Amino acid sequence: MPRAATAVSAPDEPHARALAVLRATFGFPAFRGAQREIVDHVTAGGDALVLMPTGGGKSLCYQLPAILREGTGVVVSPLIALMQDQVAALTQAGVRAAFLNSSQDARTGRAVEHALAAGELDLLYVAPERLVTPRCLDLLDSIRIALFAIDEAHCVSQWGHDFRPEYLELSLLHERYPDVPRVALTATADPQTRAEIVARLALDRARIFVSSFDRPNIRYTIVEKREPREQLLRFVRDEHPGEAGIVYCLTRRSVDETAAWLGKHGVHALPYHAGMDNAARSEHQNRFQREEGVVVVATIAFGMGIDKPDVRFVAHLDLPKSIEGYYQETGRAGRDGAPADAWMTYGLADVVQQRRLIEASEASDAYKRVSSAKLDALLGLCETAECRRVQLLAYFGEASTPCGNCDTCLNPPQTWDATDAARKALSAIYRTGQRFGAVHLIDVLRGKATERIAKWDHDSLSVFGVGADLDDNAWRGVFRQLVTLGFARVDHEGFGALKLTEAARPVLKGEQRVEMRRVVAAPSRARKPRGGSAVDLPPADAGLLERLKQWRLGQARAQALPAYVILHDSTLADLARRRPRTLDELAGVPGIGARKLEGGYGAALLGASPRFLPVSSRERSEEGSPRRGEGWGEGVSPASSSGSR
Ligand code: ADP
Ligand code: ZN
Repeated sequence: MPRAATAVSAPDEPHARALAVLRATFGFPAFRGAQREIVDHVTAGGDALVLMPTGGGKSLCYQLPAILREGTGVVVSPLIALMQDQVAALTQAGVRAAFLNSSQDARTGRAVEHALAAGELDLLYVAPERLVTPRCLDLLDSIRIALFAIDEAHCVSQWGHDFRPEYLELSLLHERYPDVPRVALTATADPQTRAEIVARLALDRARIFVSSFDRPNIRYTIVEKREPREQLLRFVRDEHPGEAGIVYCLTRRSVDETAAWLGKHGVHALPYHAGMDNAARSEHQNRFQREEGVVVVATIAFGMGIDKPDVRFVAHLDLPKSIEGYYQETGRAGRDGAPADAWMTYGLADVVQQRRLIEASEASDAYKRVSSAKLDALLGLCETAECRRVQLLAYFGEASTPCGNCDTCLNPPQTWDATDAARKALSAIYRTGQRFGAVHLIDVLRGKATERIAKWDHDSLSVFGVGADLDDNAWRGVFRQLVTLGFARVDHEGFGALKLTEAARPVLKGEQRVEMRRVVAAPSRARKPRGGSAVDLPPADAGLLERLKQWRLGQARAQALPAYVILHDSTLADLARRRPRTLDELAGVPGIGARKLEGGYGAALLGASPRFLPVSSRERSEEGSPRRGEGWGEGVSPASSSGSR
């Protein structure tokens, strides 16, 4: 395997050089999606605007050209923590990278400047406010610049939620260095943002690369809310024991309570919201980023700046505000490409709550209308009996076919003729004066003797007790779907009271049939093996994976780096599955580049100690007995090694 790209460079074939660096330095066998085209285009000196979903592999699109082109690639990145981790990961791969930002002391900063001036850097990461200082620009004037990469380019958008005024000044790069290629990158897809990026960064001549926004490794599941915390706990325990994840809640209080509840039940959970003091917040973020298997329970304040690749699930305990929000939040799962889950519970109370939030906001009527339409689109996604992914992608203007990796594809929901139930429910709303919420209406339909029913004489109504054939859950499903299907609406002033809409009339009159999604007792989550995550490995390999993780943790601690910078989960899982026995075999595992192989991990993983060898052959080795206490484990148990020869 070639050690460095230049060793195999063929001047007439720049693409072969790119591929060689991809393999030798990054340890990846092939480009993903549009990466190849983008890398070729930028390496040849073209400007580019790259729109790729989170986890799509944007970094390589500028890192590779920066390595391949003469001079230093200058990367503008808005978040200090991200910069540090990227530089750490590059350094691990043997790339000469450094950053300049306010977290450094003056001496370290000067050392980086010296290295830059001496032409010793392939990549320099800079915060935007730092880049536009006279000192930094003077420095750049004196060096050879391979390219400018503008990461999180949607930060130039004044309408977006990540607006950074400093980004507006970046148009000066074009004026000052007209010959240096620029590549802007973002995961924000909508056309307005795209146009704003082009205009504000003067990227008129850039080629635009739009990738599919599909995240095939994420499995979407939306379940009905019953006992949300128990449902969440079961999901975390059954599907993601000991794995890193994010749980989103709507309010700070529910963040605190949910984190405490999960903690009490043995999940390593930490809260995160804007009401906590800064120190505690950044400590929790840090632990999430650096430790293994931490679950952060958060409000949406926990967002940008999380680029941990091995987040195995994102759970929503409450309904997000829009499909955009949902997609962005769930997009934080599985950036490493290994299987991940996006899981959500929702119920009628969520709809009531979101509607009330919209109504109570101080925003203009136009804004409220837009918010309300966005909520409707999200409810459509929740209630669909079709593939969730098809609906999600269609929302972003992308056509697709059923995915086979969402709950509706895996367990197609049954629909039922709910005409009779709908009539009963609608007439319960009507007979009680359109002043009550679903809980009371269900009591009326089921003929319960509650205080409220007595107080309002509701046991004398014709609808009292006519719904005894369905249980509370089923009725909750009926009322929720009446709202999402538009037959009833939530009254904002009336504390969640349900009112009829015009559309209810033909149903009440018996002129219209109503189909509903059946409420299933416990959605069976038949889990297909998907590879990559620990729960999908055979038990023997899972044990080995556990030991590999322990070894990685030791490495990470010793070098004060996040574990995934050492090796990714997917690489560890591959190691456990393949059990390479030679350096060559080891080099064939994706994610292990030349530097990691030769710079120590290769030897640690298989060199001196026959850890991947079956115990029997190891016992026959010269020492006559397995070596103990070496490296990351005690070797493979006989059971786990039986099939590996
Ligand atoms: P983005 O910035 O688009 O969210 P990253 O650049 O962080 O994505 O890449 C996401 C993950 O995919 C990283 O873990 C990266 O190592 C991995 N990756 C990127 N390109 C490839 C490739 N060609 N083959 C295998 N893995 C890749
Ligand atoms: Zn699907």
